[in-house]
Amino acid sequence: MAAPRDGLATVEAEGIAGRQASSGVEAVFPSDPATPAPLCPHGPTLLFVKVNQGKEETRRFYACSACRDRKDCNFFQWEDEKLSGARLAAREAHNRKCQPPLSRTQCVERYLKFIELSLSQRKFCQRCQQLLLPDDWEKHQEHRVVGDISITQLKRPSQLLYPLENKKTNAQYLFADRSCQFLVDLLSTLGFTRVLCVGTPRLHELIRLKASGEKKSNIKSLLLDIDFRYSQFYMEDSFCHYNMFNHHFFDGKAALEVCRTFLQEDKGEGVIMVTDPPFGGLVEPLAVTFKKLIAMWKEGQSQDSSHKELPIFWIFPYFFESRICQFFPSFCMLDYQVDYDNHALYKHGKTGRKQSPVRIFTNIPPNKIILPSEEGYRFCPLCQRYVSLENQHCEHCNSCTSKDGRKWNHCFLCKKCVKPSWIHCSICSHCALPDHSCGGPKDGCFICGELDHKRSTCPKIATSKKVNKAVRKQKQRKSNKMKMGTTKGQSTNHTSVTRKKNRRERAHQYLCS
Ligand code: SAH
Ligand code: ZN
Ligand code: ZN
Ligand code: ZN
Ligand code: ZN
Repeated sequence: MAAPRDGLATVEAEGIAGRQASSGVEAVFPSDPATPAPLCPHGPTLLFVKVNQGKEETRRFYACSACRDRKDCNFFQWEDEKLSGARLAAREAHNRKCQPPLSRTQCVERYLKFIELSLSQRKFCQRCQQLLLPDDWEKHQEHRVVGDISITQLKRPSQLLYPLENKKTNAQYLFADRSCQFLVDLLSTLGFTRVLCVGTPRLHELIRLKASGEKKSNIKSLLLDIDFRYSQFYMEDSFCHYNMFNHHFFDGKAALEVCRTFLQEDKGEGVIMVTDPPFGGLVEPLAVTFKKLIAMWKEGQSQDSSHKELPIFWIFPYFFESRICQFFPSFCMLDYQVDYDNHALYKHGKTGRKQSPVRIFTNIPPNKIILPSEEGYRFCPLCQRYVSLENQHCEHCNSCTSKDGRKWNHCFLCKKCVKPSWIHCSICSHCALPDHSCGGPKDGCFICGELDHKRSTCPKIATSKKVNKAVRKQKQRKSNKMKMGTTKGQSTNHTSVTRKKNRRERAHQYLCS
């Protein structure tokens, strides 16, 4: 089994805009339920639309829900495009070909054989990211193979597998030990007995480790993730190959039922969903998916508890707060900074950026969530929640206003607290970075309408890029087949390198402003 080439959306400081039609940009629309979306290898595609400011919306098109890079999934179809039977058949064949080589049941059978082997026979191919059975050894002779895979290693697949962190494609950022321990302890303190882990393989594994450890906890966990490599390590009832951007179970109804049973067990009591999606992902499709999972949980509820909500932890950068709360008004953002192992920017301490921008959004009352004082959090009795030490209560705003863990300052002209690096600009008549260009975007950012940045530094610019690129490519294909031939590879590579560099700089700038 090769490492999945499925592009997973990117974890970056920038997000992608969801429906931003009001500000007049390329956007995402839920497709009309009456016309089912065409399928790519990652399940139903999503309908996108390109909108120009002040103009009517232009043609809509379908593209992959999971992959932001057309290199990973190049599905493209105009909404009104009619495909010939032959092309439809070719697409179906392509979709089939892209599915994992082994079925879920086959994976489980292999795993059961693997654990029967003696220690010296338990080998793992690093190149193919695959547990090997004796019959496979020969095929992987030339590859880097590690032996003596212990049961402990098998229980920590997130350490055995390399993270698919390729920024543009895979976006796998694993929790640092400290954050993962904090989450598991918190879940257990809050009394949960089942955790639906959506895109949180390391949390899943730590929960299971604790459940089988000495001081047994009784928490069960089910992992839903698009990273198929994990199917080698878990039975059907603890892992489903899943796309969280379109609620697609790659193994069909059986897998869906595993999820349903898990959510509805004990009449839905004691279960929580924890998710840490790729930050480059679209908020709207994620919200749509989570609402489907919530609905699934609700079906199992008795009538008298119909007012209850499924408890959720949605882990995402703080600058998505308004976006998330738009879809889930009962959510609030905790001050806890989530740290990652393999993310230079989002790591705590000396090696990385001091402050991670990643937070927990939840519908659990924040006063129930005790943040560790040894990591610098304190309780604010006025706000009735734990906040970071530097986050001071502003008597004018009547709240602890900092979002990024630094002390914010109250601006009496703006009538709100602002980042410490900002000063009030009398020309712009709002606070901004000292070196901002005055008279900049008066009506706010072209993409999201926010006043504090321009289009080029918008955290939501990534969508526009993908959409633009898709449209551009399509046009290019039509108009100039010759040019595609020899020069394209080179020039695309060059532009994508510069683009990547620019994007990284922007992300950096955004985080540090
Ligand atoms: N911090 C988490 C990992 C988050 S990284 C932990 O340590 O457990 C994002 C995760 O989401 C990865 O595991 C990745 O495989 C998964 N993912 C990315 N795109 C996805 C998609 N479309 N559907 C489901 N899972 C996805
Ligand atoms: Zn796809
Ligand atoms: Zn191999
Ligand atoms: Zn204030
Ligand atoms: Zn101001």
